[in-house]
Amino acid sequence: MAEGVSESARRAHPLISIVVPCFNEEQSIAALHGELTRVLATRPEVDCEFVFVDDGSTDGTARALDDLVGADPRVTVVTLSRNFGHQPAVGAGLARASGDAVIVCDADLQDPPEIMPEMIDRWRDGADVVYAVRSSRQGSALRRAAYHVFYRILNSVSELDIPADCGDFGLMDRRVVDAINGLPERNRFVRGLRAWVGYEQTALAYHRPERLLGTSKYSFGRLLRLALDGIFDFSTKPLTLIFVLGLVSSVLSLAGFAFFLAHRVIGFKVLGHTPEEVPGITSVVLAVFFFGGVQLLATGVLGEYVGRIYREVKRRPSFIVKAVNGRQVGRDVGLPRQSALAGE
Ligand code: UDP
Ligand code: MG
Repeated sequence: MAEGVSESARRAHPLISIVVPCFNEEQSIAALHGELTRVLATRPEVDCEFVFVDDGSTDGTARALDDLVGADPRVTVVTLSRNFGHQPAVGAGLARASGDAVIVCDADLQDPPEIMPEMIDRWRDGADVVYAVRSSRQGSALRRAAYHVFYRILNSVSELDIPADCGDFGLMDRRVVDAINGLPERNRFVRGLRAWVGYEQTALAYHRPERLLGTSKYSFGRLLRLALDGIFDFSTKPLTLIFVLGLVSSVLSLAGFAFFLAHRVIGFKVLGHTPEEVPGITSVVLAVFFFGGVQLLATGVLGEYVGRIYREVKRRPSFIVKAVNGRQVGRDVGLPRQSALAGE
């Protein structure tokens, strides 16, 4: 890629794409579009395009997006063939966005558009990734605690530094987006891949407000899935951990076996007792339960990886595009571009 003068010229008068995944967001869309337009008007030298991804919504989202397409030529609506989930929807938006930089944000105004100009400024100053970090978060204490614990666990097991307390809200330079689009994997934990890609990364703190319109699409189960993606897609440490656990318990049981064997043969006493005198059924049952549990857990961890391998080898796309701006699309599925894979 050409650097230097052309690079700074590109960043001076850029096209910025705003990617918005939408699942049943009929209440928020018009408000979000209004807010985006207002805020981005403060940077008149910046051209914008809006890529809304309709992730199989079943409410009036499609109609609300149609209205936007009619009213604003900068709007593109990518309609997926069903609900694929938040991360695939972001992937679909990234695949479609053509800007020099791409900003990903939620449809619900929880990612405040007011800080986008600041993101753009940081990018112009040379940052390739500007990720928004929640300096404070609203919502129930339980949810906040769960997020807190998740990011701490993620960072302690993950083999790369995924910034804590940031979602997908952030700006990525074109080369970062190209790198992510070109990755061969199907299951995409966007904020992890964004950290993995590298380049100049910088954080921007903001206050995350409560969702004003509509309801959160993340149930506890979906959040857990996302958390597991974050951990298992970016680390094989759980495998090491169960290996160490298995090793420790094998060594312990070998030592126990040696002890009982020696006792049978030599018949010594420990602290004035022989092992037979000690009523041991409780400890035996507990040990059986404990190691049964450890083995199931270990099998479960293996299962997570096997499941992921299975999903990846099938090479199914992570999303299917049904229509763009209402026009049906034939074969524009979410396959990574082979040229990008080959590093061209
Ligand atoms: N979303 C989506 N597909 C889904 C679930 C969510 O495109 O299956 C979108 C949703 O419309 C929103 C964003 O992803 O724009 C984040 O979802 P949400 O605001 O419900 O998550 P939260 O902010 O509560 O974590
Ligand atoms: Mg939200």
